[in-house]
Amino acid sequence: MFSAPKMRGSMTEKMQRMHHQVLIVGGGAAGITVAASLKRRARQDVDIAIIEPADEHYYQPAFTLVGAGAYAPTRTRRQEEHLVPAGVRWIRATAKTFDPANNSVGLADGETLTYDCLVVCTGVKLDWDKIEGLTATLGRNGVCSNYSPTYMTYTWDCLQALKPGSRAVFTQPPLPFKCPGAPQKIAYLTADHLRRRGILKDCDLDFFVHAPVIFGVPYFARELVKIAERYGIKVHYQHNLVAVDGPGKTATFMLVSEERQGQRITVPFDMLHVSPPQSAPEEIKTSPLANAAGWVEVNQNTMQHLRYANVFSLGDVCSTPNSKTAAAVRKQAPVVVHNILCMMAGQAIEPGYDGYASCPLTTAFGKTILAEFIYGGKVTPSLPLDPSKERRIGWWIKVTGLPLMYWYYMLKGYEWFPRHNTAFTGDMAEK
Ligand SMILES: Cc1cc2nc3c(=O)[nH]c(=O)nc-3n(C[C@H](O)[C@H](O)[C@H](O)COP(=O)(O)OP(=O)(O)OC[C@H]3O[C@@H](n4cnc5c(N)ncnc54)[C@H](O)[C@@H]3O)c2cc1C
Repeated sequence: MFSAPKMRGSMTEKMQRMHHQVLIVGGGAAGITVAASLKRRARQDVDIAIIEPADEHYYQPAFTLVGAGAYAPTRTRRQEEHLVPAGVRWIRATAKTFDPANNSVGLADGETLTYDCLVVCTGVKLDWDKIEGLTATLGRNGVCSNYSPTYMTYTWDCLQALKPGSRAVFTQPPLPFKCPGAPQKIAYLTADHLRRRGILKDCDLDFFVHAPVIFGVPYFARELVKIAERYGIKVHYQHNLVAVDGPGKTATFMLVSEERQGQRITVPFDMLHVSPPQSAPEEIKTSPLANAAGWVEVNQNTMQHLRYANVFSLGDVCSTPNSKTAAAVRKQAPVVVHNILCMMAGQAIEPGYDGYASCPLTTAFGKTILAEFIYGGKVTPSLPLDPSKERRIGWWIKVTGLPLMYWYYMLKGYEWFPRHNTAFTGDMAEK
């Protein structure tokens, strides 16, 4: 199935440029990592192209820290051209249509590219418009979001503007959304900021969560409920943000519990941190690659598409039921690369991804719970320490270790990482 890397003979140069052995759609965390690993591991030259419209690449896990005033926004941003590995062609375009039966991808400018193997990693779409009034007021009137690189610094402005008597409201959307801890991490950092200023007890903090639990892994949820209590953060379960009135400074929630389904409540705020609802990008949703929910439908262990054998997907856009994190990408990418190389060699592909995700939960300035888990919510720490505890080392890992690892190791295609301990049984013990 795989063609030779350099086409010769009667094919024109233009045709050569329209066909690639490996075509990657999306040059974010997943796309760059796969391209770099493939370049590093392949024994022979592989012709790889990345379709990516954006000139800037963000390290999104640090957005939470920027919003809390603990990280310079410039450190989250790099030029895409410096990240695309040498020898990989960067196609500065948006993929619009997918025709996997004919191994082709259509670009927004009308060009069509063909491939031997396709890797889809476009990330998620942030559905700001699903909340009435939000886009008109985001970045003003105390309405902020760490999910937007444009407005994340406004979160820090809002936080500093809080004073005795202020009310800060935080929202968490319906699953799935990227980084399961991000909506609450900023609530804890806000509370800790107010504590340090000596005004925590004079402010109201409310966290409105769509789900009936604070976090999907019960072992960590138990600790997080205690931490919210410690700060006096009131947690309201099964509330979904539906409307924001910026000038009026109110947020409206729809209740989603069985008993109160459809009821609405409106609350006033001085600061509103919104984590927006998220879904697959439109071009994915409407493509033959999507499952009923719109995500690229892959096997959860091999990352291979269920219907198109030469298509793989990873990162936030794929259908695997893990938490959508860069940490998951780190463990998915080697599996995708291994399986592409198996296909090139005419060998059977292999399972390898176990659902690993990690969420460093910043519970205070200087303290983090390093939540690591796999499919089924099984806790799998990488460090030989009680993973339920807030630790200084966790903060160092979040602020210093992981960004270094991301830019200089993962995006460079290195694949050795500390093994997470799947034999850990601490989560079975009663607490
Ligand atoms: C506030 C916040 C906090 C987070 N915290 C953490 C954390 O603590 N730990 C953690 O591990 N993860 C965290 N994450 C999640 C992490 O950043 C993502 O899971 C990760 O970036 C996913 O990688 P990806 O490559 O799938 O998507 P992205 O990195 O989002 O890249 C997708 C790329 O695809 C491109 N694209 C989109 N559509 C098309 C198209 N049609 N054609 C071509 N290209 C396209 C986009 O321009 C983008 O560059 C956080 C995210 C946010 C927003």
